[in-house]
Amino acid sequence: MPEGDTVWNTARVLHRALAGARLTGSDFRVPQLATTDLTGWTVRESASRGKHLLLRLAGPAGEDRTLHSHLRMDGAWRAYAPGERWSARPAHLIRVVLRSAGAVAVGYHLHELALIPTAEEESLVGHLGPDLLGADWDPAEAVRRLAAHPEQSIGEALLDQRNLAGVGNLYKCEVLFLRGVSPWTPVRDVPDLAGTVALAQRLLAANRGRWTQSTTGVLRRGGTSYVYGRRAQPCRRCGTAIRKEELGERVTYWCPVCQPERT
Ligand SMILES: [Zn+2]
Repeated sequence: MPEGDTVWNTARVLHRALAGARLTGSDFRVPQLATTDLTGWTVRESASRGKHLLLRLAGPAGEDRTLHSHLRMDGAWRAYAPGERWSARPAHLIRVVLRSAGAVAVGYHLHELALIPTAEEESLVGHLGPDLLGADWDPAEAVRRLAAHPEQSIGEALLDQRNLAGVGNLYKCEVLFLRGVSPWTPVRDVPDLAGTVALAQRLLAANRGRWTQSTTGVLRRGGTSYVYGRRAQPCRRCGTAIRKEELGERVTYWCPVCQPERT
């Protein structure tokens, strides 16, 4: 599932493949960019902000543009060598192809694909809270933003990218299990918001640089999480069956014994 760490990894893959390169071709397969041609443009850098990807480009006349994309649940970018088979996903999911002399970057099922002046990036990402994997990560500001909505459930608050940017459903479930906090707990009743935020950052940071997301330290299939995706399986700590229920717009997984509802 693309969360902050996956997006950070993706930005790095794109950066290694294309940074500094002049594009020899582009092929946009979305209506809003169908006539856009980036041939001759230079890729300055690839960056991530929360779950948003920002590919910064310089045009032949020196104009700065940012190609924005969002992976949501199912998007992906892959880099291939020229001539290599594009094996990641079916071709009908391709939204854009960028070619340079040394690499081909293919974007699959991307969302919110847009080419905007780089100076206007803030219009797309300015609402985001502190980026857990950003150089400017600000845990105190994340805590302040969370605490500003004391009645909201912590399960929903951690997913709200305006509070802090990068936590998706997997890390939300895992952080709350590790903290022993029910996802339904109002933010005001969470015992240690700063500790919760710090743990989320550590879990994401630990998964930078690899595609298998693990919160347990185990990378083997079936062992990578405590509660996420483990409905009806025994809790790794107490043996109770893990539960799955809807919370807000998303499902949540939790252990009813290790994460009791506070009354
Ligand atoms: Zn348990």
